[in-house]
Amino acid sequence: MLDKFGRKINYLRLSVTDRCDLRCSYCMPKKNMSFYPKTEILSISDLKKITSTLIKLGIKKIRITGGEPLIRKDILEFLEFVCLKKKENIVEEVLITTNGTQLKKYAKKIANLGINRINISLDSLDPIKFNYITNGGKLENVLEGIYEAKKNKIDIKINTVLLKDFNESEILKFTKWCAKNNFKQSFIEIMPVGKLEIQRKNQFLPVSVAKSKIKEIFGLNPLFLKTNGPSKYFRTEKFGNVIGFISPLTENFCASCNRIRVTSNGVLYPCLGDNGSVNLKKFLHEDEKKLLSIISDIIYNKPEKHLFSVDDETYINSRFMNTTGG
Ligand code: SAM
Ligand code: SF4
Repeated sequence: MLDKFGRKINYLRLSVTDRCDLRCSYCMPKKNMSFYPKTEILSISDLKKITSTLIKLGIKKIRITGGEPLIRKDILEFLEFVCLKKKENIVEEVLITTNGTQLKKYAKKIANLGINRINISLDSLDPIKFNYITNGGKLENVLEGIYEAKKNKIDIKINTVLLKDFNESEILKFTKWCAKNNFKQSFIEIMPVGKLEIQRKNQFLPVSVAKSKIKEIFGLNPLFLKTNGPSKYFRTEKFGNVIGFISPLTENFCASCNRIRVTSNGVLYPCLGDNGSVNLKKFLHEDEKKLLSIISDIIYNKPEKHLFSVDDETYINSRFMNTTGG
């Protein structure tokens, strides 16, 4: 469906859990993170109902995210449901964003379901730094998962959040490694979603830094790929691989935004950077007409743009990326 600015909304990012087995220090607080009570988390049947309703309103692409989607115990049942929608050509794409920790166990199962593209978040290729940024994660485990996905012929994109004084020195290493393994790659600017002890401006590193480093050493030319996504794509001269740069803070891309988000407790956010939302759970057991009209209304009124700023003056303080679904 179209919103009031004429944008076609056809992409759902669905968070199936706010829980995670990692604690990335830019995503959620190290301590005292409060999660939704288990009783509030959407059941598989509620997830199916919300998804089916949104499909009726024009959703064609579904990204399963979290928290860490693959730690949800009954995740396969839901993946089977959405993959069936894809087989029936009701949706065009089913994608997963994962931290990779469970991929050794799930890669084959995911591939068998017909999911052939996943995004894996990875912010360091150094085991000690990886352990530090994720507050305890084991790089080796994630790499094994990534190679298992590659073995199962899943198309992999590595997403790296650029972090000042942390992974600036690994930008070239990441590009080389992705090129060697035939992985797609994106560098992403940090977004001030949730207030942390550390100020966001002390974490923020613009994508322009990564772009110029790569350009200087490997050569980099813009690609004029037309996609609905926020990435600006480039190709390296040295390896011929494609790199996306996502710059929510330095180059606003809201004018072409086609997405909405639903949290694991059923709250629909038409914009990641705005607190406007509606709790769908309250209406799930009303008649379908009412549910469709409530959703249509909030999508139609999707804000024109986010109001992010790295100076922490944002009003998104108590909602973190693991709840909203990155
Ligand atoms: N756990 C999964 C993962 O890490 O891929 C899925 C959920 S995670 C919230 C989705 C994406 O959001 C990850 O790529 C993560 O790096 C990114 N992310 C988390 N907090 C962020 C922030 N404050 N700014 C920008 N990206 C963030
Ligand atoms: Fe977990 Fe993903 Fe957030 Fe890291 S970015 S803490 S892996 S939800």
